Amino acid sequence: AGAASLALTLTACGQDSKGGSEESTGSAKGGTIGIAMPTKSSERWIADGNNVVKNLQSKGYKTKLVYGEDDPDQQVSQIENLITQGVKGLIVAAIDNKSLNNVLQQAKDAKIPVIAYDRLILGTPNVDYYASFDNTKVGELQASYIVDKLGLKSGKGPFNIELFAGSNDDNNTKYFFGGAMSVLQPYIDSKKLVVKSGQTKINQVTTLRWDGATAQKRMEDILTSTYGSGKVDAVLSPYDGISIGILAALKSDGYGSASKPLPVITGQDAELASVKSIIAGQQTQTVYKDTRKLAEVASTMVDDVLNGKKPEVNDTKTYDNGAKVVPAYLLQPVSVDKSNYTKELVDTGYYKASELN
Ligand code: BGC
Repeated sequence: AGAASLALTLTACGQDSKGGSEESTGSAKGGTIGIAMPTKSSERWIADGNNVVKNLQSKGYKTKLVYGEDDPDQQVSQIENLITQGVKGLIVAAIDNKSLNNVLQQAKDAKIPVIAYDRLILGTPNVDYYASFDNTKVGELQASYIVDKLGLKSGKGPFNIELFAGSNDDNNTKYFFGGAMSVLQPYIDSKKLVVKSGQTKINQVTTLRWDGATAQKRMEDILTSTYGSGKVDAVLSPYDGISIGILAALKSDGYGSASKPLPVITGQDAELASVKSIIAGQQTQTVYKDTRKLAEVASTMVDDVLNGKKPEVNDTKTYDNGAKVVPAYLLQPVSVDKSNYTKELVDTGYYKASELN
């Protein structure tokens, strides 16, 4: 999305367009909370950062918000700095789920509670709570959308599908892909869905750092090597930025005409560029996760812990990080396509109708 549309997005979510390593002012009766986000290269994390800041400020905290720009080492040193600066609590959306163990030990030693934000942090007991969405459900929604759209339940097929997964260092990836495959596998087994590339294992289909250009290249390679004849009917894509890359590969291969229509293509995050693409009939679906609600859950968790209150959780068994099962509050994701984007995205105030033109 261009800078102009991004600014509009943020305004629509009731935020200003500030980002980056910034410090807020405020009454700060609760002290300062450090917020470490993964990257500004995707709109959703900018919205997340701004929404968490807004929420914490309304609860009387100051905030320090940093973005690691998809570099795990940079994120580690940013969190180290936040600890040195004396933050009272940390909210962290990890870049690499396993690189934070040492720095979170430092947080523990300084008695700083840690909330894992959206992505679980692995291999350390020093994560107090986890705020996220039902990540398995995200994958199930993407895959069921494909199943419905292709008419597989009424016996149609066979159809060709290609599969993409997210970054292998993001703990969510295996939940998204696992959820999707639980729905798709029976059709692959019965040959109603055919993965012509043969790439069906998670380690064959991941996309490092969720990079759209990496996905575009992989889709181009698959089209060249495997689809001389025949065409792709569906693509499981885990994230809007990846969907945009896949679409670019398909379009440069001649898809998008009456004789060679674009496949059904899923996504995640309801990013502005993808919602516009859905309205234009290119990307087919996305999974909307209201970042305003996630920010609220995470901010309330840290506030509760600091006030000696037990945060509300609704899942105490799914998210085992290898050192403990982290108590979690999981929000519900929503499947969005051309038929319901107004209801889900405009009527809820996530976007203004004028931004989607
Ligand atoms: C988030 C997704 C997002 C992806 C890429 C995942 O951890 O849960 O919402 O699409 O990261 O940023």
